[in-house]
This record gives sequence, structure tokens and C-alpha cells, in this order.
Amino acid sequence: MAPFIVVGRMSNILFNNGIYNGIVVKTTKIRTYLLAENTITLSCGASISNAARILARNDLGGFEGLVGIPGSIGGMLRQNAGAFTYEISDRFIKALCYFPRKELLTELSKEDMSFSYRNSGVKRQEAVIINATFEAIPRSSEEVMNEINECNKKRRASQPYDYPSLGSAFKKVNGISAGYYIEKAGLKGFRIGGARVSEKHAGFIINTGGATCADYIELLNYVKLKVNQIFDIWIEEEIEVI
Ligand SMILES: Cc1cc2nc3c(=O)[nH]c(=O)nc-3n(C[C@H](O)[C@H](O)[C@H](O)COP(=O)(O)OP(=O)(O)OC[C@H]3O[C@@H](n4cnc5c(N)ncnc54)[C@H](O)[C@@H]3O)c2cc1C
Repeated sequence: MAPFIVVGRMSNILFNNGIYNGIVVKTTKIRTYLLAENTITLSCGASISNAARILARNDLGGFEGLVGIPGSIGGMLRQNAGAFTYEISDRFIKALCYFPRKELLTELSKEDMSFSYRNSGVKRQEAVIINATFEAIPRSSEEVMNEINECNKKRRASQPYDYPSLGSAFKKVNGISAGYYIEKAGLKGFRIGGARVSEKHAGFIINTGGATCADYIELLNYVKLKVNQIFDIWIEEEIEVI
């Protein structure tokens, strides 16, 4: 089998030197949804923000705090993406998955997915998510939209949206944001080439223009080392470098 990778919106992935020696399957045009009573089934390329608005129009909620995460359903489930008090796994019921190595198409339950912080069974088992079904919670459209707007406001106030980034570059350590350590290490604004530690949120590495993959990786490594030297902890990438 030729090497291949399935990607969604590429908001959490960096191709080393921009090169992948294989087939890249991008799912963003596969974005159907099916609303049935209090469940919604979303195909892998669907956006969570659109899904939350579809639910809201039907007096349903469940994804409010996730609105604004720029990933696809497939990418978000693999990563168990989350924000504020929400995680994509909260309302998850099941997913239709393809296992390329076994050439097997099968449904995975929440238990099978064994979600944890920014991790899932899909990541561990290298499965491809085709679609996923979530529980929707009866809630007035007004209430849902109010919470979406509130979360969006908080997101915009604390995260740099004026430059491209891959979101938070590092995972939390023992429940504490990596950005806390990076800021305390005095690295806000530190740059290598076009890549810079955001002044607004030290966990974000932004592209201020013309950042190469090498700039980004060098900066990631520099930040990890500095934090280790000062706090004697290792922060781990949340983004994926392929
Ligand atoms: C401005 C900004 C803000 C962000 N905020 C947050 C946040 O609040 N919380 C958070 O958790 N993340 C956040 N992120 C990171 C990112 O959006 C999430 O990690 C998201 O889940 C990635 O989805 P994607 O579709 O872009 O995945 P990609 O980057 O395309 O891929 C990521 C991984 O998922 C795999 N993948 C993609 N689709 C599938 C599929 N169908 N089946 C199996 N594997 C698949 C890829 O192979 C790859 O390994 C943010 C990113 C940005 C740029």
C-alpha cells in the first residue's frame, strides 16, 4: 500500500520541509450532517462551528464551547480537541472508522475510543474516521447562541488571530498551560526567522510572515529546552510534525 495520510483542515499539523512522500487525502469537502431526534451524525470533514449553529437552529446544543476551533470532526476526534470546559468526546456516541492495515470498516463506541487529554484510540490505532455521531442536548437557540458568542469573545480576547498559527503548540503539564511556563521563562515575543512566540498567548507560535518549517521547529525546540532549564519539566508538542 502506498503511504498515505488523511488530513482535515490542517490546523494542527506541520509537514517537515513542507514535503510528504505519499498520498495526502484531505477531507474538508466531505461535510454532510444528519440530524435524527437528539443526535447528529457528522462526516469527517465537517466543521464544529457549523454543526453547533445547525444544532442551535433546532433548539439543540452540545458543542458551544468548541466553536472557533478551526479543525474538522476527524482531526478533532483524533486529538480529543477541547476548549474551556468542553471536549469533543463529551457528547460522542460512536464513529465509523476504517483501519487501513486490517482493511476493516467498523463502528467504535466511546469505550473503544478511550479518549484522554488530547488523545484517543484513533491516534493510537491509526484509524481513519469516516463519520461520527454525537448526542445533542435540548436547549433554546437563544441560550446556545449566547454561550457560543461568549466563548468566541473569550477566545478572541486571549488568542492571537491576527497571524496564522497552529493554535496552542504545546500540551498542558499537570493541568497547567504550557503558555504559563513559556511566559514565565521570558519567551513572549522571542522569534526565530518568521516564527515568533505570541505576545498575546505564549502557548501560540505565530507566523509573522515567511516562517519556514525549520524556523518553527527550531523555535519549538528552543522553547522546550529553555522551559526545561528553568522549571525542570519537559513540555510536549500538541501539534503534530510529520
Ligand atoms: C487559531 C487556532 C486555534 C485553535 N484552538 C484550539 C482549541 O481551542 N482546542 C484544541 O484542542 N485545538 C485547537 N486548535 C488546534 C486544531 O484546530 C485541533 O487540533 C483540531 O482538532 C485539528 O483538526 P484538523 O482537521 O485541522 O486536523 P489536521 O491538522 O488536518 O490533522 C491533525 C491530525 O488528525 C489526523 N486526522 C485528520 N482527519 C482525520 C480523520 N478523518 N481520521 C483520522 N485522523 C484524521 C491527521 O492525520 C493528523 O494526524 C487550534 C488551532 C488554531 C490554528
